[in-house]
Amino acid sequence: MKENFIKLWLLQDIDRKLNILNDKLKEIPQRVQDLNKKLAGKQQEFESSKQGLTEHKKQYKLAEVELRAAEEKLATYSAQLYSAKTNEQYKAFLKEIENQKRLKSEIEDKMIVLMEKMDELETKLKVMEMEVTKEQAETQAKLNALEAERKELESALTEQEKQRQELLQSLPPDLLRRYERIRKSKGGVAIATTEQGRCNGCLSPIPPQRLLDIEREDKLYLCETCGRILLPGKAKQEEKTN
Ligand SMILES: [Zn+2]
Repeated sequence: MKENFIKLWLLQDIDRKLNILNDKLKEIPQRVQDLNKKLAGKQQEFESSKQGLTEHKKQYKLAEVELRAAEEKLATYSAQLYSAKTNEQYKAFLKEIENQKRLKSEIEDKMIVLMEKMDELETKLKVMEMEVTKEQAETQAKLNALEAERKELESALTEQEKQRQELLQSLPPDLLRRYERIRKSKGGVAIATTEQGRCNGCLSPIPPQRLLDIEREDKLYLCETCGRILLPGKAKQEEKTN
């Protein structure tokens, strides 16, 4: 019986490892998705800043056209000023000249602001472009590492499954059935040990006589409170040193 108990311990250890490996494997697609999402976010940010620059350039070209129009009008009115036949006409031309001058100066101010923004955006874009390139390389490296991790997890899983199969063949079927049934109903942990007079699965005290029975390891005992298979604490110690 004692030999079977050791095998049960090994089985529980394998099952615990299988759970951990499976959990890690399940996380990988999400981690891949998160990495791609982060990169896409950076690329998106870069693209929209690029669009912003294009928009500013368009506005600047428009302002240049407006400026030329204002300059042409200003030249026309200035030339007409000397051909004014009445005082009224002269005053009207003067007013137009003032208007065009004001308009011209407004456009020029706007162009300065646009120019500053364009410079700012261009500097920002250069930095962003470097960041995106860096992020792409980093993301690719991380994705490669994740792929390697996935392969490692899969081969570790295969290895543990193989060990499990071997162990299953050497255990009495009724004991195995019991183990599986308890494992399913107890959150994946079928075996508990006695630690300082208590079941370490549910922390309930164990009667002293029962403790002695358990320590003999000649019969299977279940915890009366949580229903797990109870093994003596020292069995766990032996397992650890093996
Ligand atoms: Zn218990």
